[in-house]
Amino acid sequence: MAVERTLSIIKPDATRRNLTGKILARFEEAGLRIVAQKRLRLTREQAERFYAVHSERSFYDDLCDYMISGPVVAQVIVGENAIALIREIMGATNPANAAPGTIRAEFGESIEANSVHGSDSPETAEFEIGFLFSGIEIIG
Ligand code: ATP
Ligand code: MG
Repeated sequence: MAVERTLSIIKPDATRRNLTGKILARFEEAGLRIVAQKRLRLTREQAERFYAVHSERSFYDDLCDYMISGPVVAQVIVGENAIALIREIMGATNPANAAPGTIRAEFGESIEANSVHGSDSPETAEFEIGFLFSGIEIIG
């Protein structure tokens, strides 16, 4: 296993319900370290670019609308096997299919409003981190 960095976003449904601290605690309790963090409201254009990989999918427009419907909290997270570990802690995309005890099983509202995002590969992580953070904001 290698030390990796990944990008996590606490999505608008979770910030709206004041779940930021509870979600971040799951990551920290798993031994992961938050090395950069910001609260922001994405613009439509930023949401479209962030999720450009899904631009051909039927849910893309709704997903972009949802991601700008409220503030999000983004963080760069570092740790052993961080990319897969965060996705394990998050659970399956659809909360109805997420394993018991995962963030999405516990907090997710729907397949769209599923409370958290996590990068899915080292390449995606570097794109997403660079999209939302500059080097001087990341303090290891
Ligand atoms: P994320 O990229 O947000 O970590 P994921 O990797 O589990 O989630 P993706 O397939 O990358 O899932 O989808 C990105 C996001 O698009 C999902 O988290 C969800 O918010 C939304 N989404 C995915 N599939 C659907 C769908 N069938 N209907 C509505 N929204 C969807
Ligand atoms: Mg994804």
